[in-house]
Parts: sequence; C-alpha cells; structure tokens
Amino acid sequence: MHQDLHMTTTRPAHTPLASLPTRFLSPTDVAALVRTRGLPVCLNELAEAIGNDFLRWPDFDKTARVAAHSEVGVIELMPIADTSQYAFKYVNGHPYNAQHGLPTVMAFGVLADVATGAPLLVSELTLTTALRTAATSAMAARTLARPDSRTMALIGNGAQSEFQALAFQHLVGTTQVRLFDVDPAATAKLVRNLAGSGLVVTACASTAEAVQGADIVTTVTADKTNATILSADMLAPGMHINAVGGDCPGKTELAADVLRAARVFVEYEPQTRLEGDLQQMPADFPVTELWRVLAGQASGRTRPEDITVFDSVGFALEDYSALRYLHAQAAALGLGQPLALIPALANPRDLYSLTRPAAVPAPTRTAVPELV
Ligand code: NAD
Repeated sequence: MHQDLHMTTTRPAHTPLASLPTRFLSPTDVAALVRTRGLPVCLNELAEAIGNDFLRWPDFDKTARVAAHSEVGVIELMPIADTSQYAFKYVNGHPYNAQHGLPTVMAFGVLADVATGAPLLVSELTLTTALRTAATSAMAARTLARPDSRTMALIGNGAQSEFQALAFQHLVGTTQVRLFDVDPAATAKLVRNLAGSGLVVTACASTAEAVQGADIVTTVTADKTNATILSADMLAPGMHINAVGGDCPGKTELAADVLRAARVFVEYEPQTRLEGDLQQMPADFPVTELWRVLAGQASGRTRPEDITVFDSVGFALEDYSALRYLHAQAAALGLGQPLALIPALANPRDLYSLTRPAAVPAPTRTAVPELV
C-alpha cells in the first residue's frame, strides 16, 4: 500500500506541476454539458452516480458541514474523501438575496487527488447543486414513494424548482405538478419553464390547495425562519414528502406533527439532526439513513399507506459524486479551461524562485483587470 502510494507520488524532479493542470468549469461549461447530454440524461446519470457512491458509504471519511451563520444567511464548507479522491463544496444560503440580484444559493467546489493533494477540478456548483439535489430527491423517492405516484405538489417555485419537477418526471414517473409560491411571479416563471415538458401543470392559490390529491409533496422554499409550510392536517395516507428547503438551524418547513406521523429518512444523520426539519425533534427520534435502504439493510416504505419523509439537507457525498461526474464528462466532451492554480516549479522545493523578477513579470495595471 505504502509502496503504491510512493510510486504514484514520485515524479522526476524536472517535471513541473504544470503537467497536472487543474481543469476549470464555469457555469457556461456546465450548462453546455447539460445541453449536450440532455437534462433528463444528466439527472439520470447523476442519480446513478450518487446512488453508487451511497452504496460505498463506509468507504468515506464523513463529517457534518462547517457553517458560518449570520443574521441573513449561512456560508458552509462541505468536505468529504475516500482513499483516492477528496472533494469540498463552498455554498451559501441567503433567502433574501433576490433583492440584491443574487441567487439564494451559490456554490463552487474542488475535486482533488488524495495521493498528491493536487486539485484536479475547480467547478461552478450553483447549477450543479440544483441538478444533484433534484437527482438525490428523485433517487430517494424511487425507494420511498408509492410506485404508482403520479402527482406532485411543488411548494416553492424558485431556482431549484424546475430541476425538481423534471427529475421527478423523468426518474419517478410524475405526470402532474401542482404549484404554489407566495410570490406569484415565481410560479409564473416555473409555469413558463415547464411549458412543453409534457407535465400537466396547475398553479394553485395555497399550499393546502396544491397538496390536494398529491402523491408526493416537495417543499423547496427559502426563508430564514421556522416556517410551517406543511402541517399534519394536509397529509394523506401514502404521501411521500420530499422536504428540501429546511436545511439550516432555525430554518424548517414541516410541522413537528408531520414528522411524528411519518417514517423519516435522512442523508447523514449527525448533520440532519442539526440542520434538517429533524432539528425540532428529540435526539432519540427515530430516523433511517437513506444509504441503508439503498443497500437493503433497512426497509423504506413498508405499506402503501405509510407516510414517508425524505428530510433532505444536502450532503457532501452528493457533491463528491457530482464533481467526479463533471470531471469525467468534461474530459470526454473537451469542456473547460486549464487553470494555473498551482505554481509550475522546475524544483518543487524552490518555491522562492517564483518571486525572482525573471521568473514572473510583476503585474502591471493593464495586466490585472480591475474587479468590479
Ligand atoms: P429561491 O430563493 O430561488 O426560491 C425559494 C422560493 O420559495 C421563492 O420563490 C419564495 O418566494 C418561495 N417561498 C418562500 N416562503 C414561502 C412560503 N411560505 N410558501 C411558499 N413559497 C415560499 O431558492 P432556491 O435556490 O430555489 O432554494 C430553495 C430552498 O432549497 C432553499 O431554502 C435552499 O436552502 C434549499 N436547498 C436545499 C438543498 C438540499 O440539498 N436540501 C439544495 C439546494 C437548495
């Protein structure tokens, strides 16, 4: 084992690190990837990649994400590694960002080689987070929702919502979506974007109206409060609830009675106890980690009339899977740019050589564009 590691890390001294360039993927590159592959294919491939990695759960060095909270939002770092690759995501959650012309959720991330620590990929993860979250939600619903589920209520019609609607259409078999958002402009945008999708789309006047007749309820709202988007009186036997927006201390969507009425499934329990709708419940409230259901170690839905909740908060493993997927697809499709992130050194121990005037011309005003 050590011998192998030594073999992979030793390079001839004259080989500069530039021979291991980091690939950079911008939002435009990831959008091009999605357009080239097709959104349903990407969602399917991501769900498969995430599912396969969930089946390798014990292989990963896992930790709850590290969060820096403020009055208006949160900034989080999400690290994870197995023995060959390391990944982290930087992500924020600022529900009132629209007033600054910014998305609520913005993210980027890194995939690195464990054997050397060399960063392989730096990528946008804002669009990718929406893709991987929807793929994870659909993957969970395939195990937890009734197989005959066709109608989904979609509460919260913001940036994530199209991806949720389309993932459930293509991966779960949803044919109808019933929409509600406190902001009618958000619902109008979602209706426009789903036109031509093949989904039957109904805009509703309230959450209570939207959940009427729904087999699946997806809550994907953003507010920095303990909201009650879904209360127990809105439940029907056999419902599956895909609770995506309650993902931070003090930010929940489900009434505690909804969780009491349901069988609750989570990604990584230590993180969800802090961040999920589960934060409202006592420390011994029973939950099941989704990977155990996928691995056949625990049961998912046991009866058609069970109410199931996927208390999604977003776990680093989903981003690890997504980064690896992007890395492989970008290489195959020739997307992205080399990023000179790590110094190219003839002698890796002569870092000082970079500072010699001959090695690097000092930046001039014209060479360094002003940041705006
Ligand atoms: P967004 O700001 O673009 O959209 C949120 C929408 O929720 C807005 O249109 C807003 O009007 C609506 N809303 C707020 N309060 C509501 C209420 N009481 N009833 C109905 N609608 C309401 O945000 P987004 O990027 O779509 O993200 C939505 C949520 O999902 C956020 O809370 C975010 O943190 C969370 N999220 C979770 C994951 C995960 O893995 N679990 C991943 C990404 C985002």
